[in-house]
Amino acid sequence: MKTGRGGAEIRKRAGARVGTDLKDLYQEVIIDHNRRPRNFRKMEDATRTADGFNPLCGDQISIYVKLSDNVIEDVAFHGVGCAISKASASLLTTALQGKSREEATALFKQVRAMLTDGPAGSVMPESMGKLAVLSGVWEFPMRIKCATLAWHTLMGALEATGERVTTEEET
Ligand code: ZN
Repeated sequence: MKTGRGGAEIRKRAGARVGTDLKDLYQEVIIDHNRRPRNFRKMEDATRTADGFNPLCGDQISIYVKLSDNVIEDVAFHGVGCAISKASASLLTTALQGKSREEATALFKQVRAMLTDGPAGSVMPESMGKLAVLSGVWEFPMRIKCATLAWHTLMGALEATGERVTTEEET
């Protein structure tokens, strides 16, 4: 992968938080989650669902949640999309099993900040557990919406507005 948008410079200033070895490892994990997505199924007894669409890339992801007393008892996803969108959705489902709605919302905000603000932002990838593997996407602005799609869709499911979630603002 090439480094875009002066990412190397900014990383240097931020104290070289993500080394080359770590970046390779992150890529491995993303490739693995794309090839063998976790919790990739339509959930028949979901209590909340939402469909998400990223028109920039064509990613279409549905999120299924079994919510009980504000706790995510089960979460799954289905759909078609690029490697980043599928890996991000797969990681989401593994990170949110058993979490409360509030914890899910907090994690959504952290992931979004990590992806959009990059190393200059307040969210340290080290504090994000397995989700740290998504931190490198920040260097590829075209792919950020691929990575955040599942998360926006999850929020749509938890808010249950019944509207299709899109990464583009409605006008
Ligand atoms: Zn995509």
